[in-house]
Amino acid sequence: MGTVTGHQLKVYNSLGRQLEDFVPSADVVGLYSCGPTVYYFPHLGNMRPYVFADTLRRTLRWKQIPVRHVVNITDVGHAVADSDTGEDKLEVAAAKERRSVADIADFYTRAFFTDIAALNVLPADRYPRASEYVQQMIEFATRLQERGVTYQIPSGLYFDTTKSDGYGTLALMDIAGQREAARVEHVEGRRNKTDFALWRAEEPGVRRVMRWDSPWGWGAPGWHLECSVMSMELLGQHFDLHTGGIDHRELHHVNEIAQSQAYLGDGEPWVRYWMHNEFLLLNNAKIAKSSGPVPRLADLAADGYHPMAYRLFLLGGHYRSQLDFATAAVDGAQTTLRRLVTRIEPLRPLPAIETYEQARAALTAIGGAADGERGDERGDRTGLAYLDQLDEAISLDLATPRLLAILQESLRDTRITPAGLRVIVAAADALLGLRLADLDPAALDRRRSAADLDQAEIAAIEQLIADRTQARKEKNWARADEIRAELDQLNVQVTDTPTGPTWHLR
Ligand SMILES: [Zn+2]
Repeated sequence: MGTVTGHQLKVYNSLGRQLEDFVPSADVVGLYSCGPTVYYFPHLGNMRPYVFADTLRRTLRWKQIPVRHVVNITDVGHAVADSDTGEDKLEVAAAKERRSVADIADFYTRAFFTDIAALNVLPADRYPRASEYVQQMIEFATRLQERGVTYQIPSGLYFDTTKSDGYGTLALMDIAGQREAARVEHVEGRRNKTDFALWRAEEPGVRRVMRWDSPWGWGAPGWHLECSVMSMELLGQHFDLHTGGIDHRELHHVNEIAQSQAYLGDGEPWVRYWMHNEFLLLNNAKIAKSSGPVPRLADLAADGYHPMAYRLFLLGGHYRSQLDFATAAVDGAQTTLRRLVTRIEPLRPLPAIETYEQARAALTAIGGAADGERGDERGDRTGLAYLDQLDEAISLDLATPRLLAILQESLRDTRITPAGLRVIVAAADALLGLRLADLDPAALDRRRSAADLDQAEIAAIEQLIADRTQARKEKNWARADEIRAELDQLNVQVTDTPTGPTWHLR
């Protein structure tokens, strides 16, 4: 029996900026996603790349393409302002919070894991920590030095980008323009403005907290180095997929490619497909440029929004489109999700489906079985037609907005059998990861705090409580129960105390 694979998966390759057929080069596809720098809580914008990479992983699973996924944890090497010199983000955070660097890294790594779990992101196979690979980074830089593509200056060992064929291709970089760019920090002795640090030497008289001895003196690795080293270590020298936020397309990934291809020296492209998600905007501005705190998942939860509502909000836009975060948009997503889950609840339990082939087999079986649920040939064919649409949508560069529209359409379609609909919902959720099989609609009620209520709402609640007190005084228990039920409807919890009743929102 041949393998049923459905539509050819096409992905938008940033390298060349075009849609390409995804053709795996190995039995197990290597997928590397640039991970967090663990010096602070990840904000909502930080989470978009992981939901995007998760959609890609689910799609590969759907297509039965085995994958090995690596996400790095940057706990050393990332300087403030993404520059080559200056203080390390983790050391600054540790000093500010009066904690050790290891403490800071552990704490914010856990915060990252908490958030990706809340967003139902499938765990990666490995989460290597940069600080555990410094020796390999030194060896990597030594080989680059032997190949004559580096030079040493007082601030460290630098990669000479003029020695890199096709440097900046990924970014469609105007090298002349970039080299003249005024915004690039000034580094004494650096030959070209695009050159970057492989090793950041300790400045004289300054002793870093995180420091290693190297052929270029005591210091710490440059930020770009870790991803080349850890990905090759864990996925092999060449691999198929590398993902990250679109900001990485302009510098970090450009430099990863330059140093990796110089290291390998085999004339082959290091990674075959580069995929980047667009920015999450905050009130139509880039988050990096926004003033004031950027909300994180915990802030949304405190306002009564479920993490799955945020996931739906993200999937409602294509990963290559900018998305503007606004509370109203997440509010809308939560309402949509609540309706969706309420509609799906009677269909539970959903069948366990992860792949296209499983869904297809399940739908084919319905047509042949006399299952008593209007299980005729037509229902089967309707289900199969929806499955084909789902597969077509995800195969075309992970078109999640289309996927959601098809799911909604199938739920309104009276021609499909309940058994077929169960398969379609489970199949869509294998790709969307919205927990449609078990999410409780009640968990999607937006629990407001009393601070959200306006004066009229507060007055109405207090009137009800006063009426209840009065009814109890008059021993009118029926009326008191009635009022309690009304308060329940409003999610008001009344507590009787010796000084009278108090209340809060549940
Ligand atoms: Zn990286």
